[in-house]
Amino acid sequence: MIQNQVPFTQESWIELSASALKQNILEFKKITSPSSQIGVVLKGNAYGHGLKEILSLVHGQVDCIYLIAARDAFWIRKFEKENQLPLHRILVIGVTSESEILECARLGIEITLGVTDWRRFVPQMRANQSRVQAHLHLDTGLSREGIREVDLEKEIQDLKKYTDWIKLIGVMSHFSNTEDVTEQEYAHAQLEAFERMSSQVQKIFGESSPLEKHFAASAATLVLPQSRYDRVRVGISLYGMWPSTEARISSKLVLKEVPELKPVLSWRCQSQIIKAIPQGTYVGYGCTYRCEHDSVIAVFPVGYFDGYPRLASGKAHVLVHGRRCPVIGRVMMNHLIVDVTSVIRPGESEVLATLIGVDGEEKITPELLASWAQTIPYEIVTRLGAHLQRVVRNSI
Ligand SMILES: *Cc1c(COP(=O)(O)O)cnc(C)c1O
Repeated sequence: MIQNQVPFTQESWIELSASALKQNILEFKKITSPSSQIGVVLKGNAYGHGLKEILSLVHGQVDCIYLIAARDAFWIRKFEKENQLPLHRILVIGVTSESEILECARLGIEITLGVTDWRRFVPQMRANQSRVQAHLHLDTGLSREGIREVDLEKEIQDLKKYTDWIKLIGVMSHFSNTEDVTEQEYAHAQLEAFERMSSQVQKIFGESSPLEKHFAASAATLVLPQSRYDRVRVGISLYGMWPSTEARISSKLVLKEVPELKPVLSWRCQSQIIKAIPQGTYVGYGCTYRCEHDSVIAVFPVGYFDGYPRLASGKAHVLVHGRRCPVIGRVMMNHLIVDVTSVIRPGESEVLATLIGVDGEEKITPELLASWAQTIPYEIVTRLGAHLQRVVRNSI
């Protein structure tokens, strides 16, 4: 049910469902407990949903928050102070710079050592008698961040020397091919490498203080239970999306019962102009579309500037009055034109479009919009403009 009350805005807006988010967290708790804890990934402006809005909903509800940028972690500490919230556990999984490291130590933000030049932190930490808690990222096959196995012995011997300034508390890795396949051979090879490498680290650091281990993102959490270790790092599925169709199929085999993930985000827009145009009229830049019949079109103030993919031109639909209506002509920077001939009611001077979300019996998922734009839902949601107003609702 779409609520009539819309924010005061000339632009499209995003609605977030607090209850859907809560349900997704519960689904993951159900799957993983009691062996693993739940960490959530709030990078990319909380996957485009809005860091501030999502943070308010998950703070205290999960075990750990993962971010790419240290500046987002600093912002969270400020938010906690202003709202008198307890300090949440935060791990920066991206690369931290020298100018950020002391602040991380001071604010109790954990960092990841993902590149071999972590030694650059030592002089500053020593000079300030500061100590930061760190996780060592092991490259088990993605070839992105992480220490490679051949370099591991030397890295950890060195790291051990600097333990007064950089205290190692965890080891982690990241899968490269769990989403795109239904057979997990590559993931199993990565798991084996992780086992080998993490025991090597543990041995050198001493068996008496066990290091925390974490590896799984959404897909692996759902389809590879042995990869969950101490904690999982759930991103896309926290927001109610499946990492891929393959992951959904595999999870059915592995978990028997497919978790019910509820989309958190809807994207809506009120029309600016409605007009009738006669058969044969061209619509939009490049005259790529010409009306075959007398038509009624609606112009919406939303375009690729806001994150609506231009590649979806000629394929995308939006929902108006619970029905799919085609986006016609090219997607423009700040405008979309939609053929509303079949749904417009007599005397109606404006209509509401659902670009992503549910209206009546129909829905448009980020996955569907992504398929029209030849991309993945991750890209669709993370590109939603940070300028768009986000409204949190309890249930949609
Ligand atoms: C993005 C990311 C995740 C979360 O991935 P999803 O597929 O969105 O769950 C987990 N770990 C790392 C290191 C990441 O970069």
